[in-house]
Amino acid sequence: MPSKKVLVLGGNFGGLTAALAVNHELHGDVDVTVVSASDRFVFNPSLIWLPFGKRSPDDVTFPLEPTFDAHGINFVHAEATRLDLAAQAVETTAGRYTYDYLVIATGYRNNFDVVPGLGPDGNAYTITSLEDAIHAGEGWKRFLKDPGDVIVGATQGASCFGAAYEYLFNVSHQLRKAGLKKRVTLTYVSPEPELGHLGIGGLPHGEGLLGMFLKKEHITAVVDTAVDHVDEGRLVLADGTKHEFSYAMMIPPFLGQDVVRRAPEIADEKGYVRVRDTYQTEAYDNVYAVGIAAAVTVPWQTANPVGIPKTGFPTEAMAHVAARNIAAQIRGEAPGQHKDFADMQAVCVMDAGNNGVIILADKMLPPRKHGVLIPGPQAHLMKLAFEKYFLWKARNGYVNLP
Ligand SMILES: Cc1cc2nc3c(=O)[nH]c(=O)nc-3n(C[C@H](O)[C@H](O)[C@H](O)COP(=O)(O)OP(=O)(O)OC[C@H]3O[C@@H](n4cnc5c(N)ncnc54)[C@H](O)[C@@H]3O)c2cc1C
Repeated sequence: MPSKKVLVLGGNFGGLTAALAVNHELHGDVDVTVVSASDRFVFNPSLIWLPFGKRSPDDVTFPLEPTFDAHGINFVHAEATRLDLAAQAVETTAGRYTYDYLVIATGYRNNFDVVPGLGPDGNAYTITSLEDAIHAGEGWKRFLKDPGDVIVGATQGASCFGAAYEYLFNVSHQLRKAGLKKRVTLTYVSPEPELGHLGIGGLPHGEGLLGMFLKKEHITAVVDTAVDHVDEGRLVLADGTKHEFSYAMMIPPFLGQDVVRRAPEIADEKGYVRVRDTYQTEAYDNVYAVGIAAAVTVPWQTANPVGIPKTGFPTEAMAHVAARNIAAQIRGEAPGQHKDFADMQAVCVMDAGNNGVIILADKMLPPRKHGVLIPGPQAHLMKLAFEKYFLWKARNGYVNLP
């Protein structure tokens, strides 16, 4: 009997893990194809360092094809353009692919429409893609030649607050290194209801700890706010307050990819895929979604919308759950793995240039039993070590390592 066909869309944290894990679960007795719009893996957590020249694009990416080749997985560098779910097929820029099981791991795209003046041709930089981070670095070089005040933050609806804080503290560190700390006012702008909410509802003592960090670094915070628009050199808040700047980096909200949005039988209004705790879609038993592509319900209401960060750790966890469930289905068993996003552990390291904070919690979302933030220089060293370890693990396809 020919092997079952598993088609994976996307080759980053979610797609790479799901493709290799399902292959591993079935000892290679499965026909796995990955279709990805990017032919490289991008280690997004290091994008916070790119603008300062601490990393180059080659340092934080690797080509996907050799990794998949080494594990007998077909790799197609193409974009999925239409999901024909009733026919178990996906149209791509490289042709039509049929499947027995589909894994959607197409991640996010920036939603610059939320605030006029954002985006590649706008007035504030962002670091949420490789291209954006390169662009932010070009701006940083220009800024150093003619420095002035700096704004770092996130817009209403954003979810990736860890990266905003990391960039804030790295900017502060770089300003000190450049001898500019006393000349430049650094301001943090965020829709979070309080400092340290982080899009996960906050952690014990988080607000105090972040407040202490900001005070030590002489950073002003404007939280619980929304941005109306960004002019050249001026950020205007919804209440009309104006903040002048020479350099600004704002994290925008994310949306799912258009190819998902165009499949209303599985997508929500943001283009994320509605899934069960098995990571099967609500509509199809043989169609899965993992990582940022999977929809997660925001359990709180805040004055300004605050999203939930779907970070690397839960993305890998979702991909493993999906891989085990697909393997079970192929063996003729029921999908037995269940893991709700809210119940996954939160494990994250927030870098601050030469310092940082380790975030550990028993659950991503409240109510929790345990949650702790551990500040100190060891966090910076952990992030450096983790980057090296993760890139080694992913490049070699050792996705079953922790
Ligand atoms: C600046 C920044 C810093 C971060 N820092 C951390 C951190 O410190 N720790 C942490 O755990 N997480 C961090 N994250 C989050 C982490 O990057 C995400 O959890 C992770 O990228 C999610 O992986 P994914 O595979 O779901 O999606 P993505 O990484 O978005 O990958 C999606 C893949 O799908 C491909 N694709 C898109 N559209 C299509 C299409 N139509 N057809 C085919 N392929 C397509 C893309 O090219 C890409 O390869 C950070 C994110 C950012 C942006």
